[in-house]
Amino acid sequence: MATCNVCGSMILFGGKKEGNYRFCNNTCLAKGKVFLVSDQIPHDVVEKETKALHHGSCPKCGNHGPVDVHLSYRVWSALLFTSWKTTVNICCKRCGVKAQALDLTLSSLFGWWGIPWGIFITPVQIVKNVIGICKAKNHLTPSPALRNQVRLLIAANYLENEK
Ligand SMILES: [Zn+2]
Ligand SMILES: [Zn+2]
Repeated sequence: MATCNVCGSMILFGGKKEGNYRFCNNTCLAKGKVFLVSDQIPHDVVEKETKALHHGSCPKCGNHGPVDVHLSYRVWSALLFTSWKTTVNICCKRCGVKAQALDLTLSSLFGWWGIPWGIFITPVQIVKNVIGICKAKNHLTPSPALRNQVRLLIAANYLENEK
């Protein structure tokens, strides 16, 4: 089944199609412009920016890198409502682990208290953070995830300047 490239929800009927991307509605289509633009950015531009970011100092703490993508996972619930998200942290390893530890703590405290999703999603988010913390390492070369993020950042900048 197709999923929206922006919000990740399943597309049952209709939806919008642009290039290789599917979007669930016009709001996501507008946000998805950045994906379409990102495909047009030349490879060497992305490569150069990625290397610069990777070797530069950490945007969060200012300390020496290498800088890469560190994902952290959060969930919180309030009775019938549960919200969860994945945060893309572009930072050094130490800041990445810090973000994962924070999300781990918040999810353990506030994730459970929603019916029914809190009970299912909370252990998933906890495990993902634990794995992230255990597997944290310094990448000697930029990861593909960092390259993707840089591509999207350049595209977002381009769209911002176009306005
Ligand atoms: Zn969507
Ligand atoms: Zn840092």
